[in-house]
Amino acid sequence: MATDYYGVLGLARGASDNEIKKAYRRLARDLHPDVNPDPGAKERFQEVSRAYQALTDPEKRRIVDLGGDPFDNGAGAGAGGFGGAGFGGLGDIMDAFFGGGATTRGPRSRVRAGGDALIRLDLDLDETVFGTTKDITVDTAVLCDSCTGAGTAPGTHPTTCVTCSGRGEVQSVQRSFLGQVVATRPCPTCAGTGQVIPEPCPKCGGDGRVRARRTIPVKVPAGVEDGMRIRLTGHGEVGPGGGPAGDLYVEIAERPHDVFTRDGEDLHCRVTLPMTAAALGTTLTLDTLDGQEEVDIRPGTQSGSVLTLRAKGAPRLRATGRGNLMVHVEVETPTRLDAEQEKLLRELASLRGEDRPAAAGAEGHGGLFSRLFK
Ligand SMILES: [Zn+2]
Ligand SMILES: [Zn+2]
Repeated sequence: MATDYYGVLGLARGASDNEIKKAYRRLARDLHPDVNPDPGAKERFQEVSRAYQALTDPEKRRIVDLGGDPFDNGAGAGAGGFGGAGFGGLGDIMDAFFGGGATTRGPRSRVRAGGDALIRLDLDLDETVFGTTKDITVDTAVLCDSCTGAGTAPGTHPTTCVTCSGRGEVQSVQRSFLGQVVATRPCPTCAGTGQVIPEPCPKCGGDGRVRARRTIPVKVPAGVEDGMRIRLTGHGEVGPGGGPAGDLYVEIAERPHDVFTRDGEDLHCRVTLPMTAAALGTTLTLDTLDGQEEVDIRPGTQSGSVLTLRAKGAPRLRATGRGNLMVHVEVETPTRLDAEQEKLLRELASLRGEDRPAAAGAEGHGGLFSRLFK
């Protein structure tokens, strides 16, 4: 059975746009996961949102008003469950015992909603951080312009299916342990639609849609992250019989950056400092996504310390402001000293009383390391 989207919002069939909006707002306010921690509320909120979507999109609402389900584009839409081929669902058995009428059936529409589509969009870090507009090319199904979805050759019309006399289903009597059982299944000639197209449109072969390659501009907001999806409503595939198009989802794939790694709204990078610069302090010129920045390294900076450049990260997608850029400092110990350098360092070590240092962490324990240096 198709979902009663009006009922989900507590409305009667044919409610006005205004009533739909009001009912949705009232329910969403009570059920939104941010305000209602009840686990059942989340599910109900999704149901309500779906119903709102179905009833505010004119194409989708048309399907609802015709007794269909705009979100159901699989086989058997609108039917009470055909239960597979031949002898099948419970409905068939009920029909057999109660003379039919337990489920409502009939020809289903040729026109069905199109499927959603998903495409991946590779972006560089500066594009996800600052936003961009990209043209994407998709292979999709579009409305056949020759028959505008009808599927018939020019000047011809569909005719009633002779196999099922337009009912869209055929019945067969089978013997089973229950005695004779009448099995109902979709008509194989017309695929359950009750109509056949004697002269299909030469362009689409009767499907009402054709394959086409389209280029669509996608606006990527600043601050998107890897794995996020942007929905382009109505840019999915057109449905069979020219049914309303599904949505196109664009999934963001962020390419790794040479210098920066991203953690949500924060960026991280690593700089290597000579030991002397770390000890004496210096000013570094750092290439950030915003251009060059001067970074002060205080005298005595330790390896592993982190400097924070405020608001040089990625913008927050659903709020104002930006994350930070975290600069991880690594101090490099010099190797391959020449004779003079070594002499200077030894003098320094002796001045600082560091020519026989105690191992940190071993102090006072008389452990292996302190003994080695005695
Ligand atoms: Zn056509
Ligand atoms: Zn038929």
